[in-house]
Amino acid sequence: MAKLYLVPTPIGNLDDITLRAVRVLSEADTILAEDTRTTQVLLRHLGIEKKMRSHHKFNEHATVEAVAASIEAGETVALVSDAGTPGISDPGFLLVRTCIGRGIDVETLPGATAFVPALVDSGFPCDRFCFEGFLPPKKGRTKRLDRLRDEERTMIFYESPYRLVRTLTQFAEVFGPDRPVSVARELTKRFEENVRGTLGEVARHFAAHEPKGEIVVVVGGKPARGKGADTAEPDDEERLR
Ligand code: SAM
Repeated sequence: MAKLYLVPTPIGNLDDITLRAVRVLSEADTILAEDTRTTQVLLRHLGIEKKMRSHHKFNEHATVEAVAASIEAGETVALVSDAGTPGISDPGFLLVRTCIGRGIDVETLPGATAFVPALVDSGFPCDRFCFEGFLPPKKGRTKRLDRLRDEERTMIFYESPYRLVRTLTQFAEVFGPDRPVSVARELTKRFEENVRGTLGEVARHFAAHEPKGEIVVVVGGKPARGKGADTAEPDDEERLR
């Protein structure tokens, strides 16, 4: 039966595509791509020739109904974004919601996404965490940060290298300069690195060493009050907080 597949693609290293993703991309009738030129590079690497249509944040509102109608008419559609998992800080959610609303089968393949390796690499508790994606650059930014002031879970943010120092400095003001942070840069790529320390230290590091490439910022949660005292059996990660 025709359905919508969401297919994760590598976030750098082209080997990070799954065998199933390759099969689904080969067998789909149409690939919906955020940027057809970017996806063409991947498809060429995989030896796949396929009809593509573009599906990005500027046309998704106008096209989701037509895409859903084409699946109802029997077309199997695979949605990919430029990198990682569609729907994670990328187009995907609107189409998924529309398909579910129309009773269309939706299947998301597990695969590459930037926040999971950044979180696990941070060494912060990952039993509970919150993914904040990109903070608004201006309007609504302060309000979002205010809401996170007392967040006890590990927090994950996507950030551009141009705003990193400003963001870390602002985080130091909101969460305190001693709060631990882990900045994952260029995951899966040649110059992959992880810079860990306090917000104050890491902000100073990147002020002195201009950051380049793609970045995930992972901030430790606020230490819980009376940690462990009122918990009969704290799990391993809770004990490490
Ligand atoms: N859909 C993607 C995912 O599943 O992670 C996210 C797409 S979002 C438009 C792009 C942001 O993801 C980048 O600005 C960066 O914050 C993060 N990102 C993507 N690839 C990365 C990488 N190789 N290393 C570090 N961060 C990355």
